[in-house]
This record gives sequence, C-alpha cells and structure tokens, in this order.
Amino acid sequence: MNVVAYEALPMRVVFGPGSLARLGEETDRIGLRRVLVLSTPGQRGLAERVAAVLGDRAVGMHDRARRHVPVPTVDEAAKTATEVAADGCVAAGGGSTIGLAKAVALRVGLPYVALPTTYAGSEMTPVWGLTENARKRTGRDRAVLPAAVVYDPDLTSTVPAAVAAVSGLNAIAHAMEALYAPDGSPVVAAMAERGIRDLASALPTLAAAEADDAARASALEGAWLCGACLGATTMGLHHKLCHVLGGMLDLPHAETHAVVLPYVAAFNLPAAPDADAAVRRALDGPDAADGLRDLAARLGAPLSLAELGVERSQLDLVVEETLSAPYANPRPIRHEDLVRLLEEMRSGCWR
Ligand code: NAD
Repeated sequence: MNVVAYEALPMRVVFGPGSLARLGEETDRIGLRRVLVLSTPGQRGLAERVAAVLGDRAVGMHDRARRHVPVPTVDEAAKTATEVAADGCVAAGGGSTIGLAKAVALRVGLPYVALPTTYAGSEMTPVWGLTENARKRTGRDRAVLPAAVVYDPDLTSTVPAAVAAVSGLNAIAHAMEALYAPDGSPVVAAMAERGIRDLASALPTLAAAEADDAARASALEGAWLCGACLGATTMGLHHKLCHVLGGMLDLPHAETHAVVLPYVAAFNLPAAPDADAAVRRALDGPDAADGLRDLAARLGAPLSLAELGVERSQLDLVVEETLSAPYANPRPIRHEDLVRLLEEMRSGCWR
C-alpha cells in the first residue's frame, strides 16, 4: 500500500431544502454585519431574494459576475464592496459568481458565504481563476475558500435542464479524476463513488423534466461530494484538456467537460483499475466509459467538440499546449494518442 495523505478543508456546510432561510444565521456566525450579495445579471432575482432573507445585514447587490472571472469584473466588484463598506459577501449562483467572490476575497480579503445554484463545485476548492488579455490564470490559495456553504436544493429548481446536465457531468469529471489522482485517499474515493452515483441517478430525472425534491437533493449532494474531491486532489488529463480548450478556443466550461469526459475515461481508466471499478459500481454498468457516454447522450448533452464550434485546424495548437507542461495522469500521453483522442472528440466518433 502507498503512503496517503488527506487534508480536510475548513468549510462549514449546511445542506438541505429550505436552508436559504438559515443564511442570516450563517453570516452572523462568521460575524458579518454588512453583506454585499453577488450574482450574475441573469440571477438578479435570486440576489433580491437573498437580500430579503438577509434583511438589514444586506448593504448592496452586485449582479455583474461573468464567466471566467474577467479582471475588470473583479475591479468593479471590489469597488462596489468598498463603496458600500461591505465586510463580507454572499455569492449566490454557479461557478462564475463563486469565482468572483473568490477573486474579491483574494483582492480585498472579504470573507464570503457561498450559495451554489449549479453543480460546478467551485465552492469546495481553494482554486481561483482570473482572465486577463484572453488568458486565464489559476492558482490555489486557502484565502479563497468560503467561510460557509449553504446548499439549498430548492435553488436548483430554476436551472435549465441543459445547464443541469452539463454541470452535473462537469462534477462527475472531478470525481473520476480524483479516483486516479496521485494524492487520492480512501476519504476521497468514498466521496467520489457516492458523488458519481448520486449524480448519475438524479440527472436523467432532472433532464426529463420530472424533477422532484429527491432528485434535486441527490444531484446537489453529488455536486458537493464531487466538488470536495476536486478540492482535495490533483486533476489529470481531463481537466488539463478542458482548461486548454476553454482558454484557447473560448469554449463554454461545462459543455466542454461533458464532451471530453467519456473520451478521457476510455483512455485513462484501463490504466487505473481501482478507479475503473469504482466508476462502474457508481454507474451500475459493465463499462465505465460507455456508461458515461450513454449518460451524456440520455441527458442531451453535446457529444462532440464540433457541436461547440471547434474546427479540425484548431486541434494542433491544443495538442501542443496540452503537452507543453507535465501533469499527473495514470497513463502516459503520447503525441499521437492525444491527436487521435482530440480528433475523436471533435467528430464525436465513439468506439
Ligand atoms: P455559471 O456560473 O457560469 O452559470 C451558467 C449560467 O446559468 C449563468 O448564466 C447563470 O446565471 C445561470 N444559472 C446558474 N444557476 C442557475 C439557477 N439555479 N437557475 C437559473 N439559472 C442559473 O456556470 P457553472 O457551470 O456553475 O460555472 C462555470 C465556471 O465555474 C467556470 O468559469 C469554471 O472555470 C468555474 N469553476 C471553477 C472551479 C474552481 O474550483 N475554481 C470549479 C468548477 C468550475
């Protein structure tokens, strides 16, 4: 047996339907008196609900979060926080809004409570990202962890089915890569398998618009667990490829993860038998990669990079960039393997 290390991250988590009502208690708990509520423009309505729950504690709303956290959006949010003399934030939304709260925490040191409304899982990780001059920089810093996370499955009832599907597949990718990460542990393996099972069972119900409270709770619980896996381990080929594709070609984050997931599963899992077995158990099927591909198809998620607008001529640069720096992966990646994989992903050709 290898030596393993596991470091728990210090977030308080409140989970359950209706837990939005507990938000004031949570901001009081960390001593916030003047809270700025962050959201995207599309979730302004949620920000207003959140401000109403916070009552006098809310001193402002800033609904300018955008995907990939462009630096000017951080400048703007930090300026608003200073103007209203905020002593903390509530980030109400998906990875884009939580990413903004992280950047504000890094820039001006404001603590925040996360109220996630998608399955991206950013609230469980010390990873921050910032986009400047069309390049996304990322880093790890515990200063960007939320002081508390309030997971209220009711808030996911408005997620469009298409967003839920790709966001859920994005979460499953975190767990799959954690299962073969060099810094994995029994804690991570247990969270990953349960997280994949939760999401794989709930997502088809949500996609079929038969969503019920149980499916929403199960999907959000899966997102919590998969996000915690992401926060605890080093990711491999799947996340590297998605980062390069997203950054170089400006592709949508979760959709890119959805396309790449079954292909990387087919490539990596034969070299990681324990991870392979865990994913098969979680999907309750004979083949992990086929199971993930079937799940994506059932959910109506994109199945090829061509559907996201990627052209054949763009792949060479993606290959070069992906291979330019070493990273952890259970199977060595040769140039010709990556060329073949990307061509299959682009065309949607499945084995
Ligand atoms: P998102 O936050 O960009 O949200 C997608 C869209 O859905 C937005 O328009 C948003 O307003 C809308 N939306 C979100 N929740 C909704 C709801 N409940 N009802 C109705 N509409 C809703 O997407 P995402 O997939 O959550 O996050 C993607 C971003 O998160 C990427 O930039 C990615 O890099 C980042 N991310 C970071 C980490 C990390 O560890 N740092 C982890 C995962 C993702």
